[in-house]
Amino acid sequence: MKCMKCGKASYKSTTTEAFEMEFGLLVIRNIPCYKCDECDEIFYTGDVVQKIEKITDMVKSFMQEVTIIDYEKSA
Ligand SMILES: [Zn+2]
Repeated sequence: MKCMKCGKASYKSTTTEAFEMEFGLLVIRNIPCYKCDECDEIFYTGDVVQKIEKITDMVKSFMQEVTIIDYEKSA
């Protein structure tokens, strides 16, 4: 997988990302991603993006001011 920003090689990693939602802050931990060795740019594959969308959709029903979800443990 090549970096979308600089074209250098990237490696598999995991990251934590915070999403500003309508009802509060959603933090997703352990998101599988690719990280660029050169510029630290992080990007996700298509199926990961889809799953993130599913998670953000799912948490709407029990959203608190701050909600922390583990990517690995979510359906
Ligand atoms: Zn890069």
